[in-house]
Amino acid sequence: MYGDMASQKDTQGRNSVIDLRSDTVTRPVPAMRAAMAEAEVGDDVYGEDPSVAALEKRVASLLGKEAALFVPSGTQSNLLALLTHCARGEEIITGREYHVCKYEAGGSSALGGAILTPLDGDANGGLTAQAVAAAIKDPDDIHFPLSRLVSLENTWNGRVQDQAEIVRIAEVARENGLAVHLDGARLMNASVASGLAPADLAAPFDTVSLCLSKGLGAPVGSVLSGPVDFIHRARRIRKMLGGGMRQAGILAAGGLYALDHHVERLAEDHANARALAEGLSGIEGLEADYPETGTNMVFLRLSPDRFGAFKAAMTEAGVLMGGRAPLIRLVTHLDVSANDVGRIVEAAAGAFGARR
Ligand SMILES: *Cc1c(COP(=O)(O)O)cnc(C)c1O
Repeated sequence: MYGDMASQKDTQGRNSVIDLRSDTVTRPVPAMRAAMAEAEVGDDVYGEDPSVAALEKRVASLLGKEAALFVPSGTQSNLLALLTHCARGEEIITGREYHVCKYEAGGSSALGGAILTPLDGDANGGLTAQAVAAAIKDPDDIHFPLSRLVSLENTWNGRVQDQAEIVRIAEVARENGLAVHLDGARLMNASVASGLAPADLAAPFDTVSLCLSKGLGAPVGSVLSGPVDFIHRARRIRKMLGGGMRQAGILAAGGLYALDHHVERLAEDHANARALAEGLSGIEGLEADYPETGTNMVFLRLSPDRFGAFKAAMTEAGVLMGGRAPLIRLVTHLDVSANDVGRIVEAAAGAFGARR
């Protein structure tokens, strides 16, 4: 149903539908497609694809890590990290609402026998060093699994995490012999919003997963980075999971283009999200959530009857939205303009009556 809607064009060939479900819906721009078409390629399972090698080197250096591995998805990137860090029966301490815990089909437990111990995050989604310390098990007590890894997420629900607390969590983890992984699917959003360099945000972590197919606008792919020996072991598991891709340089070229051209512009997505939140909050009965730590996501909490009405009005106006009742999620990205934001606010005002 969305497929048909999402492909509608107006008379100028522009999208008549504004798709705010996720930043994964971006389509490669013509220059990215050209870079992909011209990519030098080889068989990456033989280690012979120069474009994949260039992308891996580029991301490793961007994040201040020794090595990196190009993989088909963020889910596989996190799964490789978790399975490489943890053997069967070992424990991963993470956030209850984090992607690795909630939205990856339990892969690390189902496929790797690792135990996920979820902690509640604070309002911004962050864990505390104190809670992590309390969750780490005594390795001499045979009642417990061996605590092996702390897995964090930045951004979470579009919110930049508190870097000082992350540093404290990493210290607590290391003191107890645990490794620390970051699901940095949208780490570049965090970097642009906070002004902190990607390598500084990544510094407390042993391993970092970065998505190229979210706000960065590449069609496919994520990159896992970390120490050389770790990435070597992860490469074997990638093969085991069927993630060894052959002339993957076609895809890697899209990722390289994204890192060259689509990082600084994330600030536009953040400005659009802020404007959208302000515009919607100016409408009677609507209260949009866009915190100080916000990046490219806006949340709206609506009563059940208003939820349906709002969704219907937006669908009528050609706006697609994400989230599950009672929460609506609006994500800005490469294919959403400031004009589109105006159109959405107008449609919402039309449906919900006068502005305050
Ligand atoms: C999208 C996402 C992933 C997974 O990426 P896929 O490519 O969709 O598998 C992991 N973590 C977070 C926080 C994400 O938003």
